[in-house]
Amino acid sequence: MASSSDSIQDILRKLPKMDRLLAEMPDEIPHGVKLSACRYMLETLRSQALAGKVVDIPPLDELVLRATELAFQRLRPSLRPVINATGVVIHTNLGRSLLPEEIFQTLTEIAGRYSNLEYNLQAGERGSRYSHVEGILRELTGAESALVVNNNAAAVLITLETLARGKEVVVSRGELVEIGGSFRIPDVMARSGAVLREVGATNRTHLKDYAMAIGEHTALLMKVHQSNFSIVGFTKSVSVKELSVLAHEHNLPLYEDLGSGNLVDLGAFGIVHEPTVQETMEAGADLVSFSGDKLLGGPQAGIIVGRRNLVDRIKRNPLNRALRIDKLTLATLEGVLRIYREPERAIKTIPTLHMLTTPIEEVRRKAERLFKRLHSLDLPFDLEIINTVSRVGGGAMPLQRIDSFAVSLEAGETRPSGSPRISTSRLEKALRQNEPAIIVRMEDEKIIMDLRTVQDNEIPMIADGIGMAVTRLEKTTHGN
Ligand SMILES: *Cc1c(COP(=O)(O)O)cnc(C)c1O
Repeated sequence: MASSSDSIQDILRKLPKMDRLLAEMPDEIPHGVKLSACRYMLETLRSQALAGKVVDIPPLDELVLRATELAFQRLRPSLRPVINATGVVIHTNLGRSLLPEEIFQTLTEIAGRYSNLEYNLQAGERGSRYSHVEGILRELTGAESALVVNNNAAAVLITLETLARGKEVVVSRGELVEIGGSFRIPDVMARSGAVLREVGATNRTHLKDYAMAIGEHTALLMKVHQSNFSIVGFTKSVSVKELSVLAHEHNLPLYEDLGSGNLVDLGAFGIVHEPTVQETMEAGADLVSFSGDKLLGGPQAGIIVGRRNLVDRIKRNPLNRALRIDKLTLATLEGVLRIYREPERAIKTIPTLHMLTTPIEEVRRKAERLFKRLHSLDLPFDLEIINTVSRVGGGAMPLQRIDSFAVSLEAGETRPSGSPRISTSRLEKALRQNEPAIIVRMEDEKIIMDLRTVQDNEIPMIADGIGMAVTRLEKTTHGN
């Protein structure tokens, strides 16, 4: 009707001019940011008015406030810290491994100053960036040589491309794994130019299966850690020891993609024994590759260790230049590896290892601290300390259950004040908008916060975040 379209025009006419808004916003906000925030706000209001969703335009000072808030949101870094209350220790979406504090100092120095990255101070000439970690990797793993690239996916790619392009690689059908993020052994193999020669059955592969597949086109025998899945029941796989004997009889190298690749055995802490990198080398593998930021607890990197002649060939591959790691990664990796010289200290100070091995009583104490703080806030939620199970994550040890404690929140009774119920899903969403964001687990409409992955200093932050979120939600629920 004419009158309603008139009124829309009236509403639109009340939208302030851009210049008036800009003039009222704080000077410290860069002009371009103010501009885009105002534009976004005005556009939104205009389309809401046209859709009949707003009946009036708020006063100027209210709009200035909104635009300023939007602008400040845009000024925040996009990549920022979050609190991981999921209990998944190596959480790929949340940055995998936290770095040990003791290396921060070295990191800032390498970041802000020149370094001997590719300069041999002894000889006064060009050096190799890899030399900074090669020595310590050899020392820790017992390998003859080592090379580090961007991540383990890159390590697999360059290893196959170097040793087996145009030739066959023999792999068990039980090990053709897909890691999250579209990394699949058969696909990477195809990209490397190597030809996959799969042997055995999904659940059982025998030594004779490998033996029968070896022929004039074979370049490599390969084992792949199953990482994120497990085959149980009637199963058989061939050990590195047996397979290396076969490989060496045919003058072929044996390469294992270990996936997580740990340097210390966590068996004493109730974590199932996984062969360490050292043990895999000792058992006869000629090359091993593994991630820097899974169980190692370091930076994103792919580490290749093994026989010198093989690693040298990989080093000379032109692809290596495309996959090379940056100096901050190198500094971090060297710092973390140095800690591994004292394994007991590594378990205490490398956060990934520390979280995986934190005694249950300590996790319970953290849960009690959080519970107390939340309890004192008198929230409209039923609070409880519950037993839960943490996970290793990072596609490692899918069956490993690590006992843990969590605080759970369930929507409670309506308050005497008459505040309406707040659903846990609304609270969960609000916690993601908190600064820092708090990432929780949802189970049966309950919020579960597993304290194993929460750092001590984050406990008050969680309590404050929940307190503020509830206050905000109660206000907006009233307003509606
Ligand atoms: C995780 C994993 C990879 C990929 O490692 P990134 O460091 O994430 O690139 C490759 N192979 C296996 C077996 C893995 O578990």
